[in-house]
Amino acid sequence: MTERCGQSMDRRVAALLAMTENGYRNGRSSRAPVSVSECTMPKTVAVVGSGPAGLIAAERLAGAGFAVTVHDRMPSVGRKFLLAGRGGLNLTHTEPYDDFVGRYAEAAPFLRPMLDAFRPEDLVDWVEDLGEETFEGTSGRVFPRSFKASPLLRKWLARLDGLGVRFALRRRWTGWTPEGALRFEGPEGEEIVTADAVLLALGGASWPRMGSDGAWTTILAEKGVPLAPLRASNMGFDVAWSSIMRERFAGEPIKRAFFSHAGRGLRGEAVVTAEGLEGGAIYALSASLRETIAAEGAAELRIDLRPDMAEERIAERLSAPRGKASQATFLHRAAGLSPVGIALMRESTGGPLPAEAKALARLVKSVPLRLTGARPIERAISTAGGVMFEAVDDGLMLKALPGVFVAGEMLDWEAPTGGYLLTACFATGVRAAEGITGF
Ligand SMILES: Cc1cc2nc3c(=O)[nH]c(=O)nc-3n(C[C@H](O)[C@H](O)[C@H](O)COP(=O)(O)OP(=O)(O)OC[C@H]3O[C@@H](n4cnc5c(N)ncnc54)[C@H](O)[C@@H]3O)c2cc1C
Repeated sequence: MTERCGQSMDRRVAALLAMTENGYRNGRSSRAPVSVSECTMPKTVAVVGSGPAGLIAAERLAGAGFAVTVHDRMPSVGRKFLLAGRGGLNLTHTEPYDDFVGRYAEAAPFLRPMLDAFRPEDLVDWVEDLGEETFEGTSGRVFPRSFKASPLLRKWLARLDGLGVRFALRRRWTGWTPEGALRFEGPEGEEIVTADAVLLALGGASWPRMGSDGAWTTILAEKGVPLAPLRASNMGFDVAWSSIMRERFAGEPIKRAFFSHAGRGLRGEAVVTAEGLEGGAIYALSASLRETIAAEGAAELRIDLRPDMAEERIAERLSAPRGKASQATFLHRAAGLSPVGIALMRESTGGPLPAEAKALARLVKSVPLRLTGARPIERAISTAGGVMFEAVDDGLMLKALPGVFVAGEMLDWEAPTGGYLLTACFATGVRAAEGITGF
């Protein structure tokens, strides 16, 4: 399991010092990655999962002198990370730190120490240190200037290569042998791998075509690891649209509206889909919408189509004579409503719109839409549920499986889009690497 200090010690110390001066320069970590006098650290680490959580852990561990192999079932690394890059790769967010941590809701107390040690600005520094420029969008979201993940991943892999990290791709982890070795299904059949420590960074269950399919839940459940069921997070919802709505408005954005549910709301954007609604504002409310649908069979979303205009003012404008204009033209001229906004109002009443200006204005300010189901996890941006916090120690080692650590989206937290997902994947990956280092 461990080795005595030998020739590799010099290499480890040198790497450790380099790490302290370089890698940890931006880390703001109060936890030393490893004690120089320590001779009992694990020598080999098997990282399973080549997403951001697994790769940052591999970087930290290889930098500290461990022999790291990253295994993945896919033929290439970081597929979901690359997919995230198609949307611009929102790395993190610059809002005040306490607000940032608050986005993790019930998981915030658990994640805070890890985020304290790897803060949003540390992620930005790390990206820039790799030679990728970043910029802050108007909303405080931070992106690479390239708006892509591929240049970043390429540079990251070059760094990992320089650190001696090895990759074993097309290897699906299937569990353990009775002796405790890792079992993989590879191109040539079963492969058995032993390592001094294991990091599972297998992701959630969204977009399984990208690699993370949640099959690990069965394996860990059998080992007695407490798990919360995997659920879609940051996903769209079903609405029983009329055929007119589906045919004419699918793909139309609902812009600059205020979306609310169960006393929580936000200004943002959504998109009408053939099945219902999706988009940033919907994702932000997805956890409470999902829970309401699970408990009650449906959830009511309210949309204020003119959040900048008071109801009285809208009523006043709508009481002007309509003349020969069609209702849609009148609503557009008088209240600035878009065709999709008017269509949403019609869908909500299921019939004609109220004739009276005050009732019409009330509807503009609060269009009720009944959401009847959540879109499947396969199409969700992320996953809620997973390894429960009580299942791990401070270094993210599974209490039921000493020597096995977990990181990233497979842990039981969820967060809205806005860079919170990647930041927590990085922060937990860094923490797991520290846990392994101190193991
Ligand atoms: C469309 C889309 C856009 C997104 N955009 C953003 C964004 O802009 N900002 C943001 O913060 N987040 C975004 N995310 C979320 C972000 O990509 C994920 O939260 C993040 O990739 C999770 O990292 P991870 O390392 O935990 O897992 P993953 O990236 O899912 O990696 C897990 C790896 O484990 C491998 N694996 C799984 N099971 C096995 C097994 N049995 N054997 C071997 N290997 C296995 C998989 O192949 C995979 O490579 C987006 C997600 C999607 C789907």
